[in-house]
Amino acid sequence: MSNTLYDALFAPHAGRSDPFLHLPDGSVLPYADFLATAARYAHVLTEAKLSPGDRLAAQVEKSPEALALYAACVQAGVIFLPLNTGYTADEMSYFVDNSGAAMLVCDPARAEALSSLAKDGGATLHTLAADGTGSLPEAARDKPDTFATADRGPSDLAAFLYTSGTTGRSKGAMLSHANLLSNAEALKDLWRFTGDDVLLHALPIFHTHGLFVATNVILAAGGAQIFLPKFDLDAVMDALPKATSMMGVPTFYTRLLGDQRFRREATSHMRLFTSGSAPLLADTHEAFEARTGHRILERYGMTETNMNASNPYDGERRAGTVGFPLPGVEIRITAQDSTDEVPPGEVGRIEVRGPNVFQGYWQMPEKTADELREDGFFITGDLGSFDADGYLQIVGRDKDLIISGGYNIYPKEIELVLDDQPGVLESAVIGVPHEDFGETPLAVLVPEPGATPDTDAIAEEVSTALARYKHPRGYVLIDELPRNTMGKVQKNELRQRYRDNFM
Ligand code: ATP
Ligand code: MG
Repeated sequence: MSNTLYDALFAPHAGRSDPFLHLPDGSVLPYADFLATAARYAHVLTEAKLSPGDRLAAQVEKSPEALALYAACVQAGVIFLPLNTGYTADEMSYFVDNSGAAMLVCDPARAEALSSLAKDGGATLHTLAADGTGSLPEAARDKPDTFATADRGPSDLAAFLYTSGTTGRSKGAMLSHANLLSNAEALKDLWRFTGDDVLLHALPIFHTHGLFVATNVILAAGGAQIFLPKFDLDAVMDALPKATSMMGVPTFYTRLLGDQRFRREATSHMRLFTSGSAPLLADTHEAFEARTGHRILERYGMTETNMNASNPYDGERRAGTVGFPLPGVEIRITAQDSTDEVPPGEVGRIEVRGPNVFQGYWQMPEKTADELREDGFFITGDLGSFDADGYLQIVGRDKDLIISGGYNIYPKEIELVLDDQPGVLESAVIGVPHEDFGETPLAVLVPEPGATPDTDAIAEEVSTALARYKHPRGYVLIDELPRNTMGKVQKNELRQRYRDNFM
């Protein structure tokens, strides 16, 4: 019997007394104990008649037990489907129905709200709380702490990961054992993770970043994680001295930079800081280096492909870029409606091919056919360009591209100018309907606390910085940009809100 992912990431740690997780109460969870919990959970799954290929949906708080549930699914051959803890009961009903989950594990506080949808969908309901209690651990208590690992090959599915739903309804990306394993191994090598690493883990574990990039890389390397329930500035400052590395989203870094305790001495022992999931502003990159001496290593990925590009470990980490394709991964930039590659410096659609690319969207054959080409390239929906040295730069999403009077306008180019203006905290530029031009750019500005940006002066600045067709035709000020539960700006909501602005 063999199981591609379990054999490579989990089985090698059987019986190891070395730490896997450092927990907020100061305790340490050794690998052996973690795997024993996972095995007990795997017995609960099979007793509930879950077979290899069945789905288990989990909407649970971040905890060691929640991570053990992931390991249990891999070991039992069950497809793991982690869900954002922010989803409402209505949203959950879509995911449970859509996935056909045979078991739903949720927080005890939500059991009542979710019980009828579990019942309607024919799913067994179990609970798991942040403190590791609930009906699942209860049922697992007297189970054996070893489990006969289910047979699973490289192309069998290990997880359905739903996309963040930034551009529309979330889609279930089917990820195989080989998809996950190839990426974990590539990143471990590229970022030089070893058994000596202690990764500061403050990310959620229902998303590719915290679950697969962070945890799978640490499992592949045999290192440990400081497992924090969420990003809390004080807790992160406390944990830093014990960490060797940290993976973050850009807001982690802006928040750290906002704290005066965060200085060079606090990070001098660190080996690596990585960033991804959203664009890291070049300003943040530079401010971080000025403060700490470290250059953040930015990388690029998505639910459907895991990671696909990264700045180099050695060599120049170029701000405002996501670096080079990962070893074994091909990235090409194609012109609209063709498979022809565009020359360096020119913007086109980012397409990715490699062992990391998913198997398609669950029960969405048409969408899969639209985005996964027959030659194996996945059309990511992002636009970008390679610079002369081969660094990949992301300019935004295809769906956010503004076409005004026949000209292509990339919102990011305008946003970079706006973000630099006095009194502007952040900005979003969207295309809204316009009679003459079809679409025209509208600038949505968020003022810095207490500031009132002078939009006439800003329009003046923009007119000297950018070609005329790119000038926003209007400026609006709002308190904050609409973000989804992953913290991503939802431009479709802004487009909806301001669609009549010029009509
Ligand atoms: P949906 O596909 O449902 O609209 P989503 O694309 O936001 O949601 P994810 O898979 O979580 O869902 O996010 C992947 C996207 O995040 C990428 O396609 C890209 O747009 C963005 N992204 C990831 N890393 C970076 C980065 N380093 N710089 C800029 N954008 C990034
Ligand atoms: Mg997407």
